[in-house]
This record gives sequence, structure tokens and C-alpha cells, in this order.
Amino acid sequence: MAVAMTASQAQEPAQPQVPARKTFTSLNPATGQPIASFPVHQREDADMAVSRAREAARWWGGLGWRERRSRLLDWKSFLTRHMDELAQLMHEETGKPADDATLEIILAIVHVDWAARHARRVLGPHRVFSGITAINQASTVEYQPLGVVGVIGPWNYPVFTPMGSIVYAIAAGNAVIFKPSELTPAVGEWLVRSFGRVAGRGAPQPVLQLLTGAAATGAALAASGVDKIAFTGSAATARKVMAIAAENLTPVIAECGGKDALIVDADADLNAAADAAAWGAMSNAGQTCVGIERIYVADPVYETFLAKLTDRVSRLHPGSDEKADYGPMTMPGQIDVISRHLADAVARGGRALPGRAEDAVDAPYVRPVILTDVPEDAAAVTEETFGPTITVRRVANLEEGIQLANASSYGLGSSVFTRSRRRAQTAARELRSGMTAINSVIAFAMVPALPFGGVGESGFGRIHGADGLREFARAKAITSQWMKPPVNLTSFGRTDADLKRTVGLITLLHGRHGQTRRGRSRES
Ligand code: NAD
Repeated sequence: MAVAMTASQAQEPAQPQVPARKTFTSLNPATGQPIASFPVHQREDADMAVSRAREAARWWGGLGWRERRSRLLDWKSFLTRHMDELAQLMHEETGKPADDATLEIILAIVHVDWAARHARRVLGPHRVFSGITAINQASTVEYQPLGVVGVIGPWNYPVFTPMGSIVYAIAAGNAVIFKPSELTPAVGEWLVRSFGRVAGRGAPQPVLQLLTGAAATGAALAASGVDKIAFTGSAATARKVMAIAAENLTPVIAECGGKDALIVDADADLNAAADAAAWGAMSNAGQTCVGIERIYVADPVYETFLAKLTDRVSRLHPGSDEKADYGPMTMPGQIDVISRHLADAVARGGRALPGRAEDAVDAPYVRPVILTDVPEDAAAVTEETFGPTITVRRVANLEEGIQLANASSYGLGSSVFTRSRRRAQTAARELRSGMTAINSVIAFAMVPALPFGGVGESGFGRIHGADGLREFARAKAITSQWMKPPVNLTSFGRTDADLKRTVGLITLLHGRHGQTRRGRSRES
């Protein structure tokens, strides 16, 4: 199906029908040129979207696993064939290079494929062993859709990030109402329209709907009585969303910011580590939740690593031309945060490489900056910077690197570079983060079977993989009695002898743990 998606097309059935009172315009951050205008949806729009979604969820749920899988795979194929068109729109609306936008879409496609193909296996009914006390029962567990899921998204990865919730929620049988960031509504609209046309196959059922607007629209969605909110954004906003959702006991999944650390061990491949660190920190202008923001380098290789990283970073060129390595800051206000972190770091003895920190900002662009000798309690180390800057610190060894990496309120991703498989695995387990990449950066986001999410200020809950599917479903336990029980324990007709026999059996099965062969307790 060759359907060109533009923001100016006529309304799809997926759009809320209430006339919007106000509009807002999304802008190209590199040029300031308007891209398209969108309604500011309000509480009535959110409520109407939910009531339409309830019906759509029943219809979508009724299609069954096979049909839903087929429609999702059609959507995947459409996204693949229209990748260039979507990438161009992402380039215009976020400023990121079109090639980076293409990579982002590729990752999303891989997730649509995985969710579509694995939903039934992960969520469908399966038998579990009933145990000796319920031997007469056949037991099954299945994961049923929640109903309607509200997805509130950020702007930095306007396809990959919300799709991590949207796709898994839809594959689990839910209807979704998507509120993209006010900075990227055109990309959000493109996704919703394409789903309606391809996966909806012309049916007037809004399985995926769009609400546009800023904080107030997000708040309206959070208050609308959806069955779950999947929020991605800052921890400060997550707190507000949770407070609103608490009114209806609406569960929330919070994918928030990060301050990811990369540790370079003394035996690491320094070329690979410097290359990955430069990309992990600077790509997408550093506007990556799992971007590298802190580097800890083992003392023996500190100088060599820093020289290699500086060499790579000094060759990077921000801009909007075809050769740009990364684009402008998508959100103008972020430049203030970056400037504050740089100024504070320098004032506290930090050294900037390759140029002066004072010259880094050339709005809307920020040149890459490596900061060394920055105290660990400086804002550049403790707060999410979300810009093309990175702190590099010398540590005695891997262990000290882990200790400093873990001394953060955030805990999203992390990376460790070492040639020792054993040390790498130990470090990965000890790093307090939801995901760790060994000898690479961000690789975990490319593996659809792996769960994605953080700890602490980075949020809770998981998208992607089997955990991501279950996040949008509720477990349903079913027992079915297939024979009369040998001893009926759940009856007023139970006798003393019945209970005695059961106690004897349980003691035989469970009473010996921790006993030596001579019958003495190990503790005695
Ligand atoms: P943000 O918190 O400002 O906004 C996120 C979304 O919440 C937007 O759609 C916004 O309109 C909406 N919103 C704002 N106020 C609201 C309110 N009171 N009630 C309901 N909704 C509200 O974040 P952002 O600037 O769009 O995104 C950047 C942040 O997102 C960074 O911290 C980044 O690390 C994080 N992020 C996390 C992940 C992840 O997977 N963990 C992925 C991408 C981005």
C-alpha cells in the first residue's frame, strides 16, 4: 500500500471529533520554520478518545492473536517501505540527521516485528503444575489486555521511544491513545495515521488515537481513567503524572532520564572504547536517555584513552547539512541547562576539551565538549545534561569506576569496556542500572527480546521483550477441577483425619530441609 503521510491530510477516523479550541505549531529547530499546526486537545477530547478506545479495544481484542499479528506485520512492512518519508519528517521536526532518523526507525521496525511474533507465546494461556496439595486441579495462566493504554511520549526519539510502549500495548490486545511531545506532533500523527490505514484496514475502529498538546493535554490523558499510563520523559514530569493518575488508581510505567556511565578498564580495547564513547555521548546532540554522560577510566590507560576520545570528538561537526554528525538542540530551553552545567564545571576547576567551554554554545547548535577534573558533586556529574558534553574521570580501577557510576540517583543504562569476560559480567551485575552493554554502547536497545527500563530517578516498569508485553496485560489465573480431591480441604466436611493425613504428607515433603542425615538440625 503506497500511502504518503503528511500532516496536512484530511482527518482520519482516529482523530477525536470534538472541535479543538486552540492550535499550536510545531517548528523546525534548525530553521524556526513552521511544520504544521495541531489542535490543543483538552479534557473532553481525552474523555471522548477513551470512550472510543474502549469500543476499539473490544474489537481489536476480538480479532484474536493471528489476525492482530498479521495486521501488526503489515504495519511493520509499511513503516519499512516508507522509512525515507518518515525519516525526512523526523529530520525536519527534531533537527536530527536523516540517517540517524533512519536508524531510529529501523530499531522501531525490529520491535514491531518481535512484539507481533511473540505476543501469543508470551501472553497466551499456558499450563502450570498445580502442586501436590491441588493435584486434582488443572491450572493455567494467561495475560489479558488491560483495555485502554495512554502513552505520553518525549521528543528526542519520537518514533523509537513511544513505539516501545505503543507496539507492545497493541500487540497485547489493547487500544492506545498517544500524546506525543508538543515538539514532535507531526511525527506522532504520521505514526497514528499509518497504523489506522494499514493495520485498521479501513475499519472505523480507532485502535491507535492521537491527542496533541503540551502538559495540560498529557495531564488530561493521565486523568481520563485509562487502564494504564506509559509515560516517557523527565522524572519531574513523571511525578506529576503519577500524582494525577493516583486519583483513579491508574497504574503508571515511568521511563525517565538517565546519567549513564561508561567504565574503561585497564585492559580495554581503547580504540573501540573511545569510538563508542564519542558516539554514545554526542550522537543526537547528546539528547539520548541512554546516552553516555559520565566516563570513568582506569588510571593506567587514562591519558591514552582521553587522547583518543579527544581526537574523535574534535572531528565532529554539528549542523543541518548532509555531512553533519548531529543536529541542533531540539528543545531551545535545553541550551540553558547545558550552559549552566558547563559554567559550573569550569568554575569548580574543570578543564574543557577540545575547545573552550565558553565557546561551546552557538545556538541552536552546541559543539562537543569533554570535561575533565570535574568534582563528583558538580551538576555536570549529578544532573542529566542532555547535550553533547561528557565528563571523564580517572579512577584507580574498575571497582572504583563501578562505585562512582553507582553513586547516582539515576540508573538507566551503563557500559563497561574490558577484555576480561569474567570482570565484564561481574561489573554488569554490580552496576545499578536497568541495562548494561559490555564493550559497546546502547546495544541493549537494539535487542527486542531484552527488557528496557531503569531504577531510581530513571523510573520503573519495563518496555520491550516479554516483560514489555506483560507490562500491558493483567495475569489471569484459572484452576479447573478435573477429579474429586483425595482429601477435600476446602469443605466444612473436612475431618480431623483428613487434616492429619495432609500434615503428614507436607511434613514428609517439606520438613526435612536443613536437617542432617542423623536427623539433627544443621544449626544445632
Ligand atoms: P518532559 O517530561 O518535559 O515531557 C514528556 C511528555 O510529558 C511530553 O509529551 C509532555 O508534553 C508531557 N507532559 C509535560 N508535563 C506534563 C504533565 N504535567 N502531565 C502530563 N504530561 C505532561 O520530557 P521531554 O523533555 O519531552 O523528554 C526528555 C526527557 O525524557 C529526558 O529526561 C530523557 O532522558 C527522557 N527520556 C527517557 C527515555 C526512556 O526510555 N527512559 C526515552 C526518551 C527520553
